[in-house]
Amino acid sequence: MSYMTSQRKALFEALESHRDEALSADQITALLGERASRSAVYRNLSALEAQGLLKKTTASGSSKALYRYTGSEQCRDHLHLECSKCGRTFHLMAPTTDAVIDNVLRDANFSIDRTSTVLYGVCEKCRDN
Ligand SMILES: [Zn+2]
Ligand SMILES: [Zn+2]
Repeated sequence: MSYMTSQRKALFEALESHRDEALSADQITALLGERASRSAVYRNLSALEAQGLLKKTTASGSSKALYRYTGSEQCRDHLHLECSKCGRTFHLMAPTTDAVIDNVLRDANFSIDRTSTVLYGVCEKCRDN
């Protein structure tokens, strides 16, 4: 396995295990520790974003770029909710996703792209605080 490939593999593992969170490039670099260099992380993040496996967003009240992994196999069949306060991602159950999509299609004659659609709002935790 080449050096680049093992760095990319480490990046995928880190993203996969943090797929509920939007992470900054610095946080991702920290997660990888010695397994990937900072420049490799940045290079791979751009590549993954170009491939549509990552979505770049910004934290509320800041211009800092955050990355959310959208390439997980387990995430292809459902919609995601993102808390605009803490940045946490919630995975809607597939049946709920189907119900939402069917209803939108029925009401607006509009078919939703489930892999790239994110619904923004405020999560339970952030609402309570
Ligand atoms: Zn998901
Ligand atoms: Zn929240």
